[in-house]
Amino acid sequence: MKRRTFISALCGGLALELGWRRSSAAVDESARSTAPKKSWALEVADWKRFEFSEKKMGVPTRIVMYAPDAETANVAAIAVWKRFDELNAALSDYDSESEIVRVCRESGQMGAPVAISADLRRTLEESRRFCSLTGGAFDATVGPVVKLWRRSRYFNERPPEKILEAAKKTVGLDGWKLTEAGVETAPGVRFDVGGIAKGFALDEALETLRTFGIESALVDAGGDLRLGAAPPGKDGWTIGVAGLVKDGEPAFYRTLANVGIASSGDANRFLEIDGVRYSHIIDPRTGEPLTRRCVATVVAADATAADALASAVCVLGLDETPKLLERLKNVDAKEAGADGRFEKLETILYRVKNDAEPPFTAEKIDVFATSGFADVAKTR
Ligand code: AMP
Ligand code: MG
Repeated sequence: MKRRTFISALCGGLALELGWRRSSAAVDESARSTAPKKSWALEVADWKRFEFSEKKMGVPTRIVMYAPDAETANVAAIAVWKRFDELNAALSDYDSESEIVRVCRESGQMGAPVAISADLRRTLEESRRFCSLTGGAFDATVGPVVKLWRRSRYFNERPPEKILEAAKKTVGLDGWKLTEAGVETAPGVRFDVGGIAKGFALDEALETLRTFGIESALVDAGGDLRLGAAPPGKDGWTIGVAGLVKDGEPAFYRTLANVGIASSGDANRFLEIDGVRYSHIIDPRTGEPLTRRCVATVVAADATAADALASAVCVLGLDETPKLLERLKNVDAKEAGADGRFEKLETILYRVKNDAEPPFTAEKIDVFATSGFADVAKTR
């Protein structure tokens, strides 16, 4: 894909990779130490850069990797595309035949579990985890409310209050549980994992590349990223965090490796009714779309966390986000779902002037970071 097209697709606070800094470090030791025992013809430091792009999961996706040869790179890329297709078939909200849509159709009674695949189980487990970690700001049962507001686009009016009230009642952790047998849901519960699935898919993509011995890689899905080890001989991947101006220069840069980066916000996707601008992000606690304008970029140890937290941080805004970060610093590994997951955590939040029209001007940029972040990020 042409770089220009790529940048415009990302406008709205999304992250993009622009190249990398020069560094005197000779080789990427982490890539070398985890490379397969098999003896490659070339040293890891000599592996070449390969880049692939495809439209997958409804968005432009891209893989940048360092591999010993074109054949290995091709086979690894094909495996990633296949993995994306599998995950899309399990998790897509837009495909009426996807597993998640079918499961929602077939469930609807607590005590009557519906069997689910390992991928759907892991996505729902993570959704549950992030719902409780964020105090309900991220909630994958927001589906019925999301659907009503999507319909509002066509009718150009708010959903009828009674229908919205009924939909809101189905949102929350009490309405569903996971058991060994599968998932059980109360009547009316509908999952929408659109706020976390892309991140999950990116993490799976990196895992897939690792099975081919490829550690230095960047995977991109519509501007959300998962970074593996740094390119050979480099400190990291230089990521430009886009500002709010369409096609504008990145607001700032970070040199990063082994993290996930995701952005959420209403710079591009919104609807307007009676002069009120409604975001596609819903506050699950009220059933109302956000009207306070914001764009958030989150850097976390993996893309699943970054994706879920970017949606949550938009909901929480400038007032509640610092409290969330404070809380995440203290969660134990069991609650976090992965050891040290929130040590490398940074939230970049733009608040847009309420009356701003494109090109947007950020009223304020706030950067919140946990202490561990200083070790992984370098501002250019
Ligand atoms: P993202 O772009 O990652 O913020 O995901 C947005 C999508 O997630 C929306 O299109 C909805 O399908 C869904 N969604 C909206 N609000 C929330 C929320 N508060 N928690 C979880 N998912 C949400
Ligand atoms: Mg998200």
